Amino acid sequence: DRVLSVQVTPLIGEPAGAVIVLHDTTDLRRLENLRRDFVANVSHELKTPLSTIKANAETLLLGAVDDKENRMRFIEGIGVQSERLEALIQDMLTLARIESAQQPFDIAKVNLEKAVESCLHDFKDRAEMKQIDLRAVPPLGIDKVLVRADRNGFRVILSNLVDNAVKYSPDGGAVTVSWAPMTVNGSPMVRIEVADTGGGIPEEKQARVFERFYRVDEARSRDRGGTGLGLSIVKHLTQSFGGDVAVANRAEGGAVFTVTLPAA
Ligand code: ADP
Repeated sequence: DRVLSVQVTPLIGEPAGAVIVLHDTTDLRRLENLRRDFVANVSHELKTPLSTIKANAETLLLGAVDDKENRMRFIEGIGVQSERLEALIQDMLTLARIESAQQPFDIAKVNLEKAVESCLHDFKDRAEMKQIDLRAVPPLGIDKVLVRADRNGFRVILSNLVDNAVKYSPDGGAVTVSWAPMTVNGSPMVRIEVADTGGGIPEEKQARVFERFYRVDEARSRDRGGTGLGLSIVKHLTQSFGGDVAVANRAEGGAVFTVTLPAA
């Protein structure tokens, strides 16, 4: 099922000769399809919050603004959907920046304990609101673990994973971030795990969660303010730093995301 374009060039002056050039355009076609799908997805994702904003504004203008009881509901709806649009645009810009490699990464030695503590600090309030026990679990007996990564990029990786872990865990759950040095094919690497006590991800859908805009449960992700882009950003960044990311379900319930990055 490969796509070929055929060009036949008769050789002038040679009565019975022809040159046939075969161009394999499979990759070009695939890229074109990917781009088309992306544009269609983005348009759909932008339209959904926009139509709520528009409808709420229209309802307010049509008189709901005078109704004290209801107007807050419409105004709040506009606020929530605007935040969703903002998050979506922010994530799309992040992806575009990584892909175009406009801003070269500043690869440095990142101290895991410090980076994890600082990230968890940012999520403290949100975790408290859901009574989630959020903690860092450093490896026993190892002082300092360093990875080679761009400091900002690493922060984005970690905060996307912790954000999801908190988002998809029930009230009273637990989220842990642990790490340990390891060797992969003779190379020193570091494994970082973000584990939660949510519902996990069905095995047949695990590979797909790293695709752009893929959500296991559309409504649930949207309700929780998800853009569907977080994990594709994580995948892109870890691979740019010479590592990778994978997901599995924990035997005791919940998901665990494992990031591997080169050790420094
Ligand atoms: P979203 O913004 O929707 O969270 P992501 O790209 O971060 O988008 O994640 C893609 C999908 O993977 C989510 O919509 C959700 O269905 C699933 N997912 C991600 N993290 C978890 C998790 N920790 N537990 C359960 N499901 C998750």
